[in-house]
Amino acid sequence: MSVIKSYVGRLAPSPTGALHLGNVRTFMVAWLRARVNGGKVIMRIEDLDHPRDKPGAEAQAIEDLKWLGFDWDEEYCQSERIDLYRDAIRKLHREGRAYPCVCSRRDVEAAQSAPHEGDQLFYAGACRGRFADWEEATKEKELPCWRFAVQKGEGASFVDAFAGPYSVDVSRTLGDFPLARDENGAGYTLAVVVDDLDMGVTEVVRGDDLLAATPAQILIARALGASEVPSYCHVPLVVGPDGRRLAKRHGDTRISSFRSAGMSAEKIIGLLGASCGWCSQGEEVALEALLPRFSLETIPHKPFIFQ
Ligand code: GLU
Repeated sequence: MSVIKSYVGRLAPSPTGALHLGNVRTFMVAWLRARVNGGKVIMRIEDLDHPRDKPGAEAQAIEDLKWLGFDWDEEYCQSERIDLYRDAIRKLHREGRAYPCVCSRRDVEAAQSAPHEGDQLFYAGACRGRFADWEEATKEKELPCWRFAVQKGEGASFVDAFAGPYSVDVSRTLGDFPLARDENGAGYTLAVVVDDLDMGVTEVVRGDDLLAATPAQILIARALGASEVPSYCHVPLVVGPDGRRLAKRHGDTRISSFRSAGMSAEKIIGLLGASCGWCSQGEEVALEALLPRFSLETIPHKPFIFQ
């Protein structure tokens, strides 16, 4: 008899800027998908990007999301979970799966033998085995980074619930990818994996800008001893008329601005719901009212152009 695990999803905002239409569309999919599966929703503030984190953005995002009708069952902040990341980086280091690296971006760029997709750089492992520990690396460079030691032929294959089958040999595409820029392993790539495992997340729903980062995250999860990794569901982003990811240059799409201009939460949810095929243009609807209409199948497989 197989045991059916209950669904655990998460919303993972980074307080590097204000919550805008693009973030909310992805969070709508994540929230609805968890709730239609009778699942739990975890709110995880990803506040490890210190120089880019904006004071007050976290509280504003929480307020905006509640106003829009989102709720969640548990709430965490990554900045309060550094011990877990430190334990994970120590374990990976002990087991030969993580090492400090002193190469600069320029060194890594200069060593590329072929152009790589997007801004992904291949790293063949020049620093692997060079330093006994982080401290030794800091004698050569003030701010080293941690890299993951990828084994030959190591990769990941999975079926994304939205994007379909995805398979990558990480040893050929990325090589020894960066894990974190902090001695304690507190950086996006490692932290997100440690948290998803620790919080028992069963499915990660997020923007498809992170699809290419997923195989590396699966490798980390396995190296940390995970018996099961989460499933994935990557949905298209919201872009401006120029096809670029929604940003300040496309005007003010902050939720807080729509709200102070007097727009209702139902209007915003309706606009985004229509872009996913769950309601008609101009319809105003509460988030919860979309539960019976939710489907991944009606979401277009191309970015939603907001103009
Ligand atoms: N915090 C990340 C972001 O806002 C999302 C990370 C994730 O969903 O894995 O882009």
